[in-house]
Amino acid sequence: DARQLESKLNNLDGQKYGAYKQLKGIYQFKDFRLAIDHVQVDPFAPPSKMRLIMNRETAGIPAALLDSKNKRIAVSDFLTRAFGESIRKQIKTSDMNNKNIKIMIDRPGQEILERTSTVIDEQVLEVRFEAGLPAAGRKILGRAAARIITGLLPEIAGDSLFYQNIDQKALREHVEMMLDQVHMRKELDERDLVAFVADESILPRHSGVSDKPLKNAVPFSSPENLKVEISLPSGRTVTGMGIGEGITLIVGGGYHGKSTLLQALERGVYNHIPDDGREMVITRNDASKIRAEDGRNIEKVNISTFINNLPAKKDTHAFSTENASGSTSQAANVMEALEADTRLLLIDEDTSATNFMIRDARMQKLIAPDKEPITPFSGKVKPLYEDKDVSTILIVGGSGDYFDVADRVLMMDEYKLKDVTAAAKEIAETEGYRREDMSDNTFGEMTERVLLKSGFPKSGKESRLKTKGRTTILYGREPIEISGLEQLVDDSQTNCISVMIEYFRNQILDDRLTMSETADRIYNDIEKNGLDSISPYSGHPGNLALPRKQEFIGTLNRYRSLKVK
Ligand code: ADP
Ligand code: MG
Repeated sequence: DARQLESKLNNLDGQKYGAYKQLKGIYQFKDFRLAIDHVQVDPFAPPSKMRLIMNRETAGIPAALLDSKNKRIAVSDFLTRAFGESIRKQIKTSDMNNKNIKIMIDRPGQEILERTSTVIDEQVLEVRFEAGLPAAGRKILGRAAARIITGLLPEIAGDSLFYQNIDQKALREHVEMMLDQVHMRKELDERDLVAFVADESILPRHSGVSDKPLKNAVPFSSPENLKVEISLPSGRTVTGMGIGEGITLIVGGGYHGKSTLLQALERGVYNHIPDDGREMVITRNDASKIRAEDGRNIEKVNISTFINNLPAKKDTHAFSTENASGSTSQAANVMEALEADTRLLLIDEDTSATNFMIRDARMQKLIAPDKEPITPFSGKVKPLYEDKDVSTILIVGGSGDYFDVADRVLMMDEYKLKDVTAAAKEIAETEGYRREDMSDNTFGEMTERVLLKSGFPKSGKESRLKTKGRTTILYGREPIEISGLEQLVDDSQTNCISVMIEYFRNQILDDRLTMSETADRIYNDIEKNGLDSISPYSGHPGNLALPRKQEFIGTLNRYRSLKVK
């Protein structure tokens, strides 16, 4: 039990670091059990992995807050944050040398994601955390370790996991807020909307490195004609802008807040914590940001709908390159998003290839169509909606090329959004401003690629997966660079993707399934058996947060050894 653990730790004092490994095991504390699953081999290795296991009854969280999966996700998220705050508070107030106290838990950002850091089932509440076991040089500091594990830990748990000690109002709000957001996303479908932005939302962020809301920002307000009102399960009613299906063009001068709006919509596929400012910015959950990403690898993607007649007769029906240009990368990103079942594209001129987006009337006159391999997106965006039922929201501030095809044109003017559709349509109809239609009004071919097993290393060093922050996964020695996936928001999602790759390589892959079908199988397994189940570890599963299917497939697409047919 806890007392035995305490004396064990005291006895280890001064011994060689490796002796810590005898701590592995489960210990009974007063209110919980502590499982020490993995002990670090030296002081500089990643911290030791532990779980705190408590009966749900002991924690005392009302069953009414835990009786659906979404509620459990919200409560788990709240408790992970509370546990983390409690750690920081204990470290601040402890009289120990702070350098020795290294307890940490996964640290969520502004989004609420399904995670492995706190898991709640019918009987137990389990918190997964890490602790760096203290040392002086390579000698064990046993007494310090005892004070951390048998002294501080129960305090941390007491403050953050017991219902009677936590901020109950904040917890209820956290759960209600998330349920409202889940409901809103369903409501989008019912109303044929692709996105919703509530009045009074705060869209801009504190800074380029902080995702917290900007103070003193101009709150969002909906153009009058797009205003909708929706009642929420919490009993609240919200009003705000409902963006319908089809093509939505956002225009306006530089620095007026266009990109800020689009970025909020990109994140609207996730639920946000209260006071984020974007908690009522809701986007269809399959929405994909599409950007240019020159230099990326492309493997046999059919981009012929956008690009044809390349020099040297390079075939674009199964286009491969190790070094894509701006336009070919953006075309591939569109086609891959469609393969991943996206039904809403989000495009910002700031991160687009100009020749992919537009070609003005003068250039149309100068360059004969058979000399220009690219059909710009402006010629395909309408058939994309009409043939494939895929909507687009895009920012184009520097050209009127999209006026003809847009279903609505919204102008950002000093952070205020106005509907200028009528004026834009009138200009498009005016003699002298008309432009040639470059499209044959069909979207063109789409090819679903089948994943081949042979692209994945079988075993050994080459098959090891490791993540470096949010934007790089190392597969053996090969880095998969995924900074182009702008809707990936959390390091633990990247971790999860690497675990998913390993899981599916071992268990699922056969040479008959498309990318999308393969992903669906994994997501079904996770749905059925829980996120823990895909982890290669028993006990503490590592810090995993569920990514979307779009980012999982997006990562495979950026894997340079990928093989498909
Ligand atoms: P654009 O894409 O139109 O050039 P941005 O979206 O990049 O403009 O915004 C320009 C600046 O204005 C950014 O620093 C952003 O944080 C700030 N900003 C955007 N929206 C608001 C707002 N509603 N209130 C205050 N500042 C804002
Ligand atoms: Mg911009």
